[in-house]
Amino acid sequence: MLTIQGIPAFDDNYIWCIGTDTGPDVTLIDPGDAKPVITALHAQGLTPRAILITHHHPDHTGGIDQLVAHYGLPVFGPGHEDIPHRSHPLGEGDTVELPQLHLRVMDVPGHTRGHIAFYRAADNLGPALLFCGDTLFTGGCGRLFEGTPAQMQDALQRIRALPDETLVYCAHEYTEANLGFAHIAEPHNAAISQRRKDVHAARQQGLPTVPAPLGLEKATNPFLRWDTPELVRNAEAFAGRPLITPTEIFSAVRQWKDTLD
Ligand SMILES: [Zn+2]
Repeated sequence: MLTIQGIPAFDDNYIWCIGTDTGPDVTLIDPGDAKPVITALHAQGLTPRAILITHHHPDHTGGIDQLVAHYGLPVFGPGHEDIPHRSHPLGEGDTVELPQLHLRVMDVPGHTRGHIAFYRAADNLGPALLFCGDTLFTGGCGRLFEGTPAQMQDALQRIRALPDETLVYCAHEYTEANLGFAHIAEPHNAAISQRRKDVHAARQQGLPTVPAPLGLEKATNPFLRWDTPELVRNAEAFAGRPLITPTEIFSAVRQWKDTLD
């Protein structure tokens, strides 16, 4: 079976570490800081075999230098961004083939221009997984620093088409704050109210709220709910005009949240 642990870094980042229960080899995703990674791997007797990068921001790439110097690892990352030590440039439709870990690459621009995500289909080793960096967050989505609303909407649309059982491994613990906005955007959505309670209770106990199943995101994440009448009505009230296309709706909801963050 696959085993996945989130190594906490900085204030709220997770560095995902994918291994198996049959050996010491692990794959690291977005190691923004080398120190907590080296400490965790050393304590558990684990050996990294590759680094995977979703986008170029320093809190996702800052540990590459030191980890490559320490372990001599290949670095898989987006072909359209500058990634230190990148040995394997990736884009839409490419695959990453590591022992017991086969991932499909999706282009998901928006947060950054060249952002990619890694999708793993379900098999006998475990469920479907999505490592999406700062594109989709649990309960929210990344800010648009470089891409356009149309790019982000397209990326989220393709993510929403993945199976409900897919576990979403985003790179930050933002769920509780995100659901505060989700509740404002859709006050009558009972699934959002319930999830807020569940997430609050988990955080009170210091537990992570990532990963979450994509089906729960589809039911509660305002950035995956552009065809929900209550959300659209409230986004139109914020924008002060009718919103017709999914991109217009996404853009208004993103701007609305930005004004409250
Ligand atoms: Zn980022």
